[in-house]
Amino acid sequence: VQPLLQVEDLKTYYPIKSGIFKRTKSHVKAVNEVNLEVFEGETLSVVGESGCGKSTLGRTILGLESKTDGSIYFKGEDIGTLSERNLKKYKKDMQMIFQDPFASLNPRQKIGKALEEVFVIHTNMSREQRKERVLQLLMEVGLKKEHYDRHPHEFSGGQRQRIGIARAMALNPSLVVCDEAVSALDVSVQAQIIKLLKELQAKHQLSYLFISHDLGVVRHISDRVLVMYLGTAVELGTTEQIFNNPQHPYTKALLSSIPRPVPGRRRERIKLEGDLPSASNYPSGCPFHTRCPLATEQCKSEKPIWREVEDGHFVACHLV
Ligand code: SF4
Ligand code: MG
Repeated sequence: VQPLLQVEDLKTYYPIKSGIFKRTKSHVKAVNEVNLEVFEGETLSVVGESGCGKSTLGRTILGLESKTDGSIYFKGEDIGTLSERNLKKYKKDMQMIFQDPFASLNPRQKIGKALEEVFVIHTNMSREQRKERVLQLLMEVGLKKEHYDRHPHEFSGGQRQRIGIARAMALNPSLVVCDEAVSALDVSVQAQIIKLLKELQAKHQLSYLFISHDLGVVRHISDRVLVMYLGTAVELGTTEQIFNNPQHPYTKALLSSIPRPVPGRRRERIKLEGDLPSASNYPSGCPFHTRCPLATEQCKSEKPIWREVEDGHFVACHLV
């Protein structure tokens, strides 16, 4: 099967000026050689500490940041070679759900009207058609027709996220990038929103790129998981492979910080020494070597290659 989305050796660097006179030009390697595929109807999660580049990865795929190098294929087409018109089509086919969907909404505008704007910009639907479609969307995300005439402040956090989802769903996308989409919600509301996301996925054969630092949620929602550290992909596998058979020392440390559901089977907590290096002062060799408990001399100078260690399970570490 051809993946819906394929990312090859993707790099997104930001230029920065540093030094006392701001004359030293260098760059932040926010995304550094990431490879991934997302298949139709699946959820691929991207996990890692804040600052690991997962949001930048999502934004680069959506075309909100420009890539420095590498390729992005969507439905088999290299998006770097698309015409202006096809690029527009591509951007409609990929949408995003944010942590705070209301940050960008006008508090005086009714929700129905706000949602209709998507159709004003991207379609030539009539006023009646737009309203009809918005009412349909509200129902689809578990809201009511009455909500059409309400203002942003009249909604709870969970309802707001439903509106964010309605907005993302408006143009029938194939891929939705969820960036910490449930992270700000209470646990019970979180469960409802995840349920809704799963229902919509089944109904529309949607694919999700699910960016999150919450491993509990990730375990629950994902088909496959990509672990990132300092802009680099360190491990990728099925949810089962990552959670039950992690191979990379960073993945092991990350997982050791979540409590085990099975009592009596305690997992040794692996504490990482040192701080996360800044992405502008990128370590040589393996990016994790400054904090890795297993680092050797080789790790300081040689970057480990991304290798498949079992079917569909990829790791970048010299010792694996
Ligand atoms: Fe640790 Fe070396 Fe493996 Fe990097 S390559 S994770 S430093 S053992
Ligand atoms: Mg982020």
